[in-house]
Amino acid sequence: MIRRVLPHGMGRGLLTRRPGTRRGGFSLGFVSSSQRMLTTDDKAVVLKRIHEVHVKMDRSLEYQPVECAIVINAAGAWSAQIAALAGVGEGPPGTLQGTKLPVEPRKRYVYVWHCPQGPGLETPLVADTSGAYFRREGLGSNYLGGRSPTEQEEPDPANLEVDHDFFQDKVWPHLALRVPAFETLKVQSAWAGYYDYNTFDQNGVVGPHPLVVNMYFATGFSGHGLQQAPGIGRAVAEMVLKGRFQTIDLSPFLFTRFYLGEKIQENNII
Ligand SMILES: Cc1cc2nc3c(=O)[nH]c(=O)nc-3n(C[C@H](O)[C@H](O)[C@H](O)COP(=O)(O)OP(=O)(O)OC[C@H]3O[C@@H](n4cnc5c(N)ncnc54)[C@H](O)[C@@H]3O)c2cc1C
Repeated sequence: MIRRVLPHGMGRGLLTRRPGTRRGGFSLGFVSSSQRMLTTDDKAVVLKRIHEVHVKMDRSLEYQPVECAIVINAAGAWSAQIAALAGVGEGPPGTLQGTKLPVEPRKRYVYVWHCPQGPGLETPLVADTSGAYFRREGLGSNYLGGRSPTEQEEPDPANLEVDHDFFQDKVWPHLALRVPAFETLKVQSAWAGYYDYNTFDQNGVVGPHPLVVNMYFATGFSGHGLQQAPGIGRAVAEMVLKGRFQTIDLSPFLFTRFYLGEKIQENNII
């Protein structure tokens, strides 16, 4: 039975023995039930199923219960908080129950600059070996770009203020080295946003949680989620409707890799 509940061999190591069933487990945002199972080496695991999500609208004081068969956690930079509400990561360290969703908000800046002498309309999106990148923005000699900070430079994600010195000191020198005309650029505007940063291997997390069996993930894209969105949407839909990936096998991106230590390392995020 458990192999039917957990697709793609995620149930490996789990027996179909059921020592006891408990209903009515409660966590802050969810109402769920749980089942105790034993692994092949006689370790107890608890399988949970979410029955209700409690939703609070922006201008409301009340949480409304919404009954659900499936929860898709696509909460971006905040998806680990949502997973924690469902009990993900609540077990002892080193166990599947104790494995957290390793996604956190990381602040990233985007700058727009004007440079009449800059490269022309045929300019592609350029990613420099330093990690600095840019592309043209429209027809008016404007460009858009930035660079991810190193681990040591990582800014405090508590607010979305833009660090203009970061452009001056850490981005502009690389741009001007690659494109000498950028020595004369003038920054026009800038903004900051949050990457849904997967600290494990900087790649997406797709498909069901192995223990909270009706919570599916579509998160952790670490700065490349927009370009992957159509494929991810399709893959999650296939998983929900058919119980397995069909068009592209995304099983290397399942949550279980965090427990198994199987990285799908993304080396080229910008
Ligand atoms: C500066 C910057 C530049 C980027 N550039 C690129 C790029 O060039 N190419 C690319 O492919 N990707 C890029 N990305 C990454 C891309 O934007 C993300 O990977 C993508 O938006 C992720 O989409 P998502 O739907 O998974 O999450 P999001 O777009 O973050 O959506 C998550 C949603 O969940 C909601 N939410 C969170 N918590 C709760 C809650 N408790 N209750 C209700 N709702 C909640 C949020 O409000 C939000 O609407 C960039 C990101 C940033 C910040």
